[in-house]
Amino acid sequence: MFSGPYTAFMRILIRGPTVIQRPGGGVVPHADVVIEGRRYEAIVSRGGVDGEFDRVVNGEGCLLVPGLVNAHTHLAMTLFRGLAPDLSLDRWLGEEIWPREKKLTAKDVYWGSLLGLAEMIGCGTTALVDMYFFMDEVAQAVEEAGLRALLSYGIIAPTPHQIGPEIQEAERFVREWDGTAEGRIRTALAPHSPTTCLPEVWHRIAELAREAHVPIHTHLAETATEVEQIRAEQKKSPTEWLEELGVFSVPVIAAHCVHIGEKDIEILAAHGATSVHCPTSNLKLACGIAPVQEMLDGGVNVALGTDGAASAGDLNLIEEMRIASLLAKVRAGRPEALSAAETLRCATARGATALGLGKELGTIEPGRRADGVLISMRGLHFCPGYDPLVDLVYAGQGSDVEAVFVDGRPLLVEGEFLTLDVEEIRGRCRQLSRRFR
Ligand SMILES: [Zn+2]
Repeated sequence: MFSGPYTAFMRILIRGPTVIQRPGGGVVPHADVVIEGRRYEAIVSRGGVDGEFDRVVNGEGCLLVPGLVNAHTHLAMTLFRGLAPDLSLDRWLGEEIWPREKKLTAKDVYWGSLLGLAEMIGCGTTALVDMYFFMDEVAQAVEEAGLRALLSYGIIAPTPHQIGPEIQEAERFVREWDGTAEGRIRTALAPHSPTTCLPEVWHRIAELAREAHVPIHTHLAETATEVEQIRAEQKKSPTEWLEELGVFSVPVIAAHCVHIGEKDIEILAAHGATSVHCPTSNLKLACGIAPVQEMLDGGVNVALGTDGAASAGDLNLIEEMRIASLLAKVRAGRPEALSAAETLRCATARGATALGLGKELGTIEPGRRADGVLISMRGLHFCPGYDPLVDLVYAGQGSDVEAVFVDGRPLLVEGEFLTLDVEEIRGRCRQLSRRFR
C-alpha cells in the first residue's frame, strides 16, 4: 500500500466555500481559495481568480476551516474500541488494557493506526499527537496516510531495570524519525505519566529533550488517585514535582490536567506548556472535568484531543469540540465559558502551537501551510445558518466533512479517501481483533 514520498504538489482551486480564516475573525463568504504546492496562495471573493489548476474542488455550500489538531491520542487503540467498557481508569488499564497490549504485535499496531488515521481524516483531523509503542509502524502508517504528526514512544519505567532500555528505545525513535515524511513527522519524548516513571526517567528525558530540541509529551493529573499518590510520596502536586525535576525546561504537552489547582496553572502558563483537554475520555472513565476556562484565563495554551478510541469511543474532534464547550460551561457555572470561537481555536490554532507550528498552521492565510477541512453546511442542522462557526461547534457532525488537505495534498475529496484503502483496513482490523476478545 505504501506509495513512496508524495511529490506531486498541485495548484488547487477550492471554489465557493465560506472561509473561517481564524476563529473569532476573518470570515470570507463565497470565496475562491488557491493552494499552490504546500501553501495557501490566495483567499479572494468568488470569481476573483483565474488561470490553470490541476484540480478544482467544489466548495459551494461548504465551510473551509483550518485543519483540526488532535493533540493527544493513541492511534492503535482503535483495536480495543468497545472492549471493557464502564470501568475506572485503574481497573480498565490494569485488568483489561495492559494484558491485551502485551499481546500486540507490530502488525497489529500498523493496521490499528491506519484505522485511527482513516477515522481522523474522515472527521476533519489534519494533525495529531500520538504516544504508543511499535512506533516505527505508527510512523509508517502516518507517512502513508499523509497526515501531520508529533509521535513519541511511551516510556513506562516504574522500576530501575526498565529505565535504560525504555529510554534507549524512545531516543532511537526520535533519532530515526524526526523530520521525516517531507517534514510532516516530528517526534517527542514521552514518559507515560508521573506514577509510571521513576524520577531518574524525568531527569534524563528532560536533558535528552533539551539536547534533541524535541518536546515532552505526557499524561498529567488525569485522576484524583494519581494526585494523591504523588502528594503522599513527594509532598507536592504532580505538576510541582515535574517542575522540580526540570521537565518544564522544554515545551511540554500535558494530556488531561483534570485535577490541577491555581499553582499548577501558574506553572503550566509560566513555562508555555500545552494542556490537552480530552473531555470524552475524562467523562467515560469518570476522571472528572478539567478546569479549562481557568487554564485559559491563567494563560495556559489549551488544545483538544480525543485520547485513544478505547477510552473515548471515537476519534471525532468535531464532536469533542461540542462536549468540551458544554462541559466547560457547567464546570465554570457560566455559559460564557469556552465560547464557540475559543473552542474552535483550541481545536486548531492552539493545537498548532502545541505542535510548535503556531506560525505555519492554525489559520487560513496566504503563505501558511495548506492544512484545511471542507465541511458541508447542507445538513438540516446548519439551517438557517446565521453563524457558521457557532453552528459548526454546537451542531456540526463528523460526517459533514467533505474534503481534507494537508500540506496542500488532498487526502479526502467528496468523501473519497485518496491515500488509504479503507475497506482493506476495515477487513484487516476485524481479522486481527479476534485475538483480543
Ligand atoms: Zn492518553
